[in-house]
Amino acid sequence: MAPAGPYAGRRVCLTTLHGKEKVLARPFRHGLAAELQVCGCDTDQLGTFSGEIERADDPITTCRRKAELGLAATGLPLGLASEGSFGPHPAVPLLPVGQEVLVFLDRERQLTLVEQRLELRTAFASRVVAPSDLQDQDLLRWLHQVQFPSHALIARPHGSSHPGSRSDLCIKAIRSETALAAAIARCAALSADGTVRLDTDMRAHCNPTRMASIRRLGFQLVRRLRQLCPACGAPGWGRVELIPGLPCRCCGTSTALVAQERWGCAACPHTELRPRRDGRTVADPGHCPWCNP
Ligand SMILES: [Zn+2]
Ligand SMILES: [Zn+2]
Repeated sequence: MAPAGPYAGRRVCLTTLHGKEKVLARPFRHGLAAELQVCGCDTDQLGTFSGEIERADDPITTCRRKAELGLAATGLPLGLASEGSFGPHPAVPLLPVGQEVLVFLDRERQLTLVEQRLELRTAFASRVVAPSDLQDQDLLRWLHQVQFPSHALIARPHGSSHPGSRSDLCIKAIRSETALAAAIARCAALSADGTVRLDTDMRAHCNPTRMASIRRLGFQLVRRLRQLCPACGAPGWGRVELIPGLPCRCCGTSTALVAQERWGCAACPHTELRPRRDGRTVADPGHCPWCNP
């Protein structure tokens, strides 16, 4: 991508405590010739992954509020923030998925751009263990699955705690077997039944899978900011909707497959219909509700 576009030479405020500039600075510099300025203001007031503070809003709203915090703190008119949320897949409950969101704010043009993607390869999981499980094959397999120690863990006492003990103990960013054993011992001592809850630490700086996914999303957002609306010239022209109905090759019946994309502008109401990116104009009869009910 050659540097160009409406943000060349501009400073964009990135609200993060978790080193996301490491993956977002490059797409902004190379694609837009813009520099990120990190604002480390306290975003924990908007909720945390480990659940000490419940998140009140949906991920897109939380992300937009994070970016707004940065604008308020720095006085810059351009802002960026990222937000992730993790949970079971909406259609396949046993499959954990991550949703990554990036929000870009341009107060000069009154633009709000949201880019998001679903990540199926997320390492999001939790498990209850006891100190005696540490040599257990089952636990070792689980640790391998959640990519420990390259991906960090969080430990806390499970179940009810001893009266008067610190039940809010939560040890984050565990990245070595020694640290894990120590954390499990400490949390077990505070739990009434001696068990410990382990969670994957999903904060970006503790989770290289998330960092990679935020990086891809950064390039996606920058590509979009480089596209100008053909009607009003505002940055951020891009796909806003997938329209199903690709016709069956044999009988012409509409299928659930994408037939067209609608592109839209974040600043004006202009939209355009475009063909599928892969050029396909007909669907395989295997997808047809008539030929293959
Ligand atoms: Zn058909
Ligand atoms: Zn427009």
